[in-house]
Amino acid sequence: MRTPIIAGNWKLNMNPEQTTEFVEAVKAKLPDPSKVESLICAPAVDLDALRKAAEGSNLHIGAENCYFEDEGAFTGETSPKVLNEMGIDYVIIGHSERRGYFHETDEDINKKAKAIFANNMTPIICCGESLETREANKQEEWVVAQIKAALEGLTAEQVSSLVIAYEPIWAIGTGKTASSDQAEEMCKTIRETIKDLYNEETAENVRIQYGGSVKPANVKELMSKPDIDGGLVGGASLDPESFLALVNYQD
Ligand code: PEP
Repeated sequence: MRTPIIAGNWKLNMNPEQTTEFVEAVKAKLPDPSKVESLICAPAVDLDALRKAAEGSNLHIGAENCYFEDEGAFTGETSPKVLNEMGIDYVIIGHSERRGYFHETDEDINKKAKAIFANNMTPIICCGESLETREANKQEEWVVAQIKAALEGLTAEQVSSLVIAYEPIWAIGTGKTASSDQAEEMCKTIRETIKDLYNEETAENVRIQYGGSVKPANVKELMSKPDIDGGLVGGASLDPESFLALVNYQD
């Protein structure tokens, strides 16, 4: 059985002091991790404070990005090796904002996935189509191509343990959620793609999140779908009460 995973993606928000206040407000009220895994992915500059504040609690910590080299002359980048040394569990890669604003390619994302595994962390691989692609009814081929490129050369064991986040770009930060049926349809397609690329066991193990204007009001409906194993949440993860409502959606 797949353990649901609800993850906040703070983007370029919060400073270390706000991070500590947030964790203090939520840490005693997080769900049992065997029922729901709670995760915050924060800017690199907040990770040290986040890890210290979350120590001994049920909160997992993730980064929002990293580079695919561990060290060297790569000014401004974040080392996956150092993230691991800091006690980081997850790294988001391939978010549509990184693909769009920072020109991250499928090849970069594949290299980052391998570097994250080499450093004993778990990638959360984002995929998703633009409004234009959906209006042309090409969303499935688009997302399947992103998944195939991101997973190139990864083993079945690695794929079993990673997380995929399906995030239609038209639903991110717009207040416009994909319907739970649209979200389920694509998450199912992703799982079938993994079955074709690997095998049934790997497809059954991989956790697939939906992201795009997830909030306390719609999380339960989305999580009731058989192929949706979690949410990647931007705006609604910034407020402690809202984050607690999301991770405690089973109550
Ligand atoms: C995101 O940050 O990945 C996201 C889905 O944002 P929002 O929940 O604000 O739409």
